[in-house]
Amino acid sequence: MTWARVRHRKPLVDTDPDSPPPPDHPLAPPDPTHPHARRQGHHLPDASVGADGRYIYTIDIDARMGWRSSEFEETIFFCGYDLHVITDVLSGPGPGRGPVVLVDRSMNLSPAGSHKGNCGLPAVEALGDRIGKPRQLIADRAYNYVTNDTFAIPVWRLGYITIYDLHPVQRGTHPGPGGSDTIWIDGVLYPTSLPEGLHDIEPIEAKMDVGVRARLERQHQARQAYAFVLHGARRPDGSRRYRGPAVPPARVRCPNNPISMREPQSVPTTSRTPGTACGCGRTVTLTDSDYPDMRMPFQHGTLAWEASYHRRVGIESVFADLKRNRMTWHRGFFRGFGIRRYTLLAGFTLAALNLLILHDAATRRGTLDCWGRFLGEPEPEHRPRRHRSRFTSARHAATPAVTGPGR
Ligand SMILES: [Zn+2]
Repeated sequence: MTWARVRHRKPLVDTDPDSPPPPDHPLAPPDPTHPHARRQGHHLPDASVGADGRYIYTIDIDARMGWRSSEFEETIFFCGYDLHVITDVLSGPGPGRGPVVLVDRSMNLSPAGSHKGNCGLPAVEALGDRIGKPRQLIADRAYNYVTNDTFAIPVWRLGYITIYDLHPVQRGTHPGPGGSDTIWIDGVLYPTSLPEGLHDIEPIEAKMDVGVRARLERQHQARQAYAFVLHGARRPDGSRRYRGPAVPPARVRCPNNPISMREPQSVPTTSRTPGTACGCGRTVTLTDSDYPDMRMPFQHGTLAWEASYHRRVGIESVFADLKRNRMTWHRGFFRGFGIRRYTLLAGFTLAALNLLILHDAATRRGTLDCWGRFLGEPEPEHRPRRHRSRFTSARHAATPAVTGPGR
């Protein structure tokens, strides 16, 4: 948030139209693509407009209105800046990994409500080659909702495998590449022989009842057998090969693909009569333009997806450290105006937060932190380890980790 005060009574939140639909809120324009359109019975804010075509509501001429999650604050709208931050998370879910020290790897600051792709991408680019391969990026919905040229495709070019959440309006069925006898369902390719009953399966959500989750997961598993799976890495031109379910080693038995019929009876058999075209036995080449905002190593809404996407809580932990647990970043934490000033101060603040986090992590391990090593301080003497409380070890073991941007 900017330190400056909003001097208008009903500031319209005129965020970039290439964004997820705005919340149902009195300050949201009815048509996000024309936020400044005149509405009957409403006065437009008496505010000046910047070079970006957006309203300026404060004496901080770079600050804009935007939406945020109201986890830490009371209102879901604010005037100021969006902070894009990237932290490390575990390379995969499950026991035996980590813990990972959650530091801020990179950041980018933009006026609130700016384009999430254009403004999030510089933070990913800033990571450079410091991230080992294979690289994964977990990002919230704001990033895969924008035009693919602005985020999804550029991060693929940087070598990241992307893991996203889908907005309900992104879900759906579409025909696959021409002549391949396939269909797209929520970003995964299936042959047209996929049984009708497996077309529309609800994604699993955390708040669902255990029984419902188990039932949906069984349906997802049944559908999974039919999915086209990645076959080889992404080539420099962006193409990638995907193997149909009846291509050996077959995951379904298809009468059109006699070899697949040799699989045991426990493998599902498609109901297609021989001669009717189906995509089961094909290998399909997909390009960057084939749903890069939805294509993931697994189907959205499955338990495997949930476990992987859930690692994004790492970034929530960083923001909690910034706002509550280690620092008290709030309106007035920085005084002054302008995006340059705020960017510089945010950079120093995140660097300081990293030092605190690294120092704590080193202390827990009983070693010298990087700052101490830089100053040539002696290593701490090793005392016999006290028995750690169960709570502490459980808490750290649960810390997640690959690389993902958050807001
Ligand atoms: Zn088939």
